[in-house]
Amino acid sequence: MTDFACIQGQLVIDGELRPAQSTKTYPVINPATAQPFADAADGSDADLDAAIGAAATVFDTTEWATDPAFRSRCLRQLHQLCLDHREQWRELTVAEVGAPLALTYGAQLDDPIEGFAWVADLVDRYQWESSLGIAKPFGIQTNRIARKEPTGVVGAITPWNFPNQINIAKVAPALGAGCTVVLKPAPDTPLTAVFLGWLASQTDMPPGVLNVVTGSNPVLGAPLATDERVGMVSFTGSTSTGRLVMEAAAASIKPVFLELGGKSAFIVLDDADLAGATGMAGLTVCTHAGQGCAITTRILLPRSRYDEGVELLAATMTAMGPGEPTDPAIMFGPLISERQRQRVLSYVEVGKAEGARLVTGGGIPPELPGFYVEPTLFADVTNDMTIARDEIFGPVLVAIPYDGDDEAVAIANDSPYGLSGSVFSADTERAVDVARRIRTGTVSVNGGIWYGHDVPFGGYKQSGIGREMGLSGFEEYLQTKVIAVAV
Ligand code: NAD
Repeated sequence: MTDFACIQGQLVIDGELRPAQSTKTYPVINPATAQPFADAADGSDADLDAAIGAAATVFDTTEWATDPAFRSRCLRQLHQLCLDHREQWRELTVAEVGAPLALTYGAQLDDPIEGFAWVADLVDRYQWESSLGIAKPFGIQTNRIARKEPTGVVGAITPWNFPNQINIAKVAPALGAGCTVVLKPAPDTPLTAVFLGWLASQTDMPPGVLNVVTGSNPVLGAPLATDERVGMVSFTGSTSTGRLVMEAAAASIKPVFLELGGKSAFIVLDDADLAGATGMAGLTVCTHAGQGCAITTRILLPRSRYDEGVELLAATMTAMGPGEPTDPAIMFGPLISERQRQRVLSYVEVGKAEGARLVTGGGIPPELPGFYVEPTLFADVTNDMTIARDEIFGPVLVAIPYDGDDEAVAIANDSPYGLSGSVFSADTERAVDVARRIRTGTVSVNGGIWYGHDVPFGGYKQSGIGREMGLSGFEEYLQTKVIAVAV
């Protein structure tokens, strides 16, 4: 545990671990035990200011922004360091996030680490400069060259649910593009971010390329949206906070890249294998206690098979009790905090008050000490109910009946969000046809996986602006410049 101990109470600024200027720390709570297990530095505006200053200076004064080969070498070093230290990082992730151990072998840790290698490869093959050819605008013979250049200092603000995945999905492409970064993680998950910054400080990256500022104040990162030294803000979190970040960034016309909430629909067409589809839907909403922005939280069942579908869902979800995240067989752990648990439980009350039928769950499992909630299924839900419209961010599924494919599509699209979705059918072509009509950034058909380093992820409508990961996610961090040379 020695590696993990050395990052406690530390920020990463200008290439070194250092305490907050106030020297204050705050306890980090293990969601599975509800007990503190470590301390994090309680950073303030002064620390953020120092981090922005370091990131701006290194951007302006070193070869980082202009030497892609150097950057890809550093990203490969960082990738290797991540692999070398991943068992300590895994232990930290399970303790800090309440992430089931099984998920750390996928999207909670191992898979994101590979993002550094993927971006390093992209940096090596990316065409940074291209010719637009010679033309004679206004009679002047001109050679036009298009260049891609880094945007500058990136302010990255991230949430607590999949912190390693989201931190790396921002940091890797931003660094690969030649930007420098100030990463501000969520107050509940500071140390996983500091761990990443600490590893980066051991590479050849110039000091200040990646800075991490943690703190107990949720709005600690707000100045990243207004500070003129910051070139863009890359934000993942709730739609309400995203709106505030966008408003604040408007004053200096700062580009904002937003990955926000979702209320995605799982459409079971009337010819689908109902047991298979409901099994998948029940498992999905309980994974990581439903704390995933792209998790399908509305299931749309054909009215002719509605009762059968609800029964199957209840059986699957009741069997999926939550458990200790350290147990390798568990996929369903605690929520992040008591605050979040109370939020989920309050939605259960709203659902009951609005007339939805609570089929299973809705309470706290008595035998577990952490922030757990039972798997919860509501039936007889209409799409105008609060529990069908708001993002609950817990293991809560609402089942809505529909008549015909057109109505299923209409209900799926009747949402302020547009992040993801699923379609199940015995007829793949029919399912793909429905998928084409869903207004979201990703759609899974019959259990297909859209997640990947090369796959752009993001949302329509109030689920965000821009795409993370893939080539699109890399180019979010680049500006386009044209140089016109009279010849
Ligand atoms: P949140 O919006 O409360 O906080 C997100 C981050 O913003 C945190 O670091 C927080 O400290 C910071 N923050 C809060 N107020 C701020 C302000 N005024 N200015 C600047 N920063 C501020 O979200 P959360 O509760 O941490 O995370 C859950 C939300 O994140 C859910 O809505 C979920 O859907 C969303 N999310 C989206 C994606 C995606 O890719 N679309 C991925 C994961 C989570």
